[in-house]
Amino acid sequence: MTDLFSKIKEVTEISAISGHEAPVRSYLREKMGPHVDEFVTDGLGGLFGVRHAEAADAPRVLVAAHMDEVGFLVSEIKADGTFRVVEIGGWNPLVVSSQRFTLFTREGREIPLISGSVPPHFLRGANGSPSLPQVADIVFDGGFASKEEAESYGIRPGDAIVPESSAVLTANGKNVISKAWDNRYGVLMVSELAQALSGQKLGNELYVGANVQEEVGLRGAHASTTKFAPEIFFAVDCSPAGDVYGNQGAIGEGTLLRFFDPGHLMLPNMKDFLLTTAEEAGVKYQYYCAKGGTDAGVAHLQSGGVPSTTIGVCARYIHSHQTLYAMDDFLQAQAFLQALIKKLDRSTVDLIKNY
Ligand SMILES: [Zn+2]
Repeated sequence: MTDLFSKIKEVTEISAISGHEAPVRSYLREKMGPHVDEFVTDGLGGLFGVRHAEAADAPRVLVAAHMDEVGFLVSEIKADGTFRVVEIGGWNPLVVSSQRFTLFTREGREIPLISGSVPPHFLRGANGSPSLPQVADIVFDGGFASKEEAESYGIRPGDAIVPESSAVLTANGKNVISKAWDNRYGVLMVSELAQALSGQKLGNELYVGANVQEEVGLRGAHASTTKFAPEIFFAVDCSPAGDVYGNQGAIGEGTLLRFFDPGHLMLPNMKDFLLTTAEEAGVKYQYYCAKGGTDAGVAHLQSGGVPSTTIGVCARYIHSHQTLYAMDDFLQAQAFLQALIKKLDRSTVDLIKNY
């Protein structure tokens, strides 16, 4: 098992959906603690390690992954002991059925669940092909005999239901299959960045960590960027690969130069900074035009405007139990992020903000 794969396995197997991110906070405190001056939090649970600067005019730079993965909450415990759920983050209904999940009770008990599916036997004789299921109609089942039995295990509406899936290496040793690379990619990126910069002098005041509640609408980014008021913001996030289904974004082709998404445009000075740094550092990159958004979409609109971008990779089949991605893309993105942070001082930031 490679060192990188073992780190990926550890971070992707953490169970933490939006609003229930405590296990990722613990992970970040443990991994970054020795390498930062202090930790700060926002009022929603975002957590950042701070590297204080020596220069009084050093620009504040916020580098933010997001801690949360997609999942479900119990919305209703039915009389027969099964559950109705509400989606947390975006799900393709076709990948919800017949999967394993873990429900976490308030007392911390872990309850194994499956999402139900309709057997083909029950479809025989039906006219035409079955219609797309609605997530609200998919029953989650922990094998309880009744509502009372489920409640006796401490289960209540609002409990978090998290995908259950373990990480494996592909046969060629280059790629990984796991859940939650969106966005434990970012969580591993920021912890590796803090470690790599440990003890090195920086020209900026670095806030490195992760937001909460990205998957439910970029909410944590509001909290952190208004509280910590950075001059520059980097989201660190994972996007869908289009190489199998779609078009742009191929695994193994490097970090993403995300020049457009529906909530964010890359400004020319930022693009110059990114391209120059990628070329200098010999980083493999690919252009990426996105259909979704990242925390950069919220961050760049705060505090009178904050130049922002996303340091990303792409992965196939995201927002499911089985995502497939290239380990080399992580290494390219990490080399890129380190090179960018090392260059950000007062004069570089002034150049990016020179309109
Ligand atoms: Zn996502």
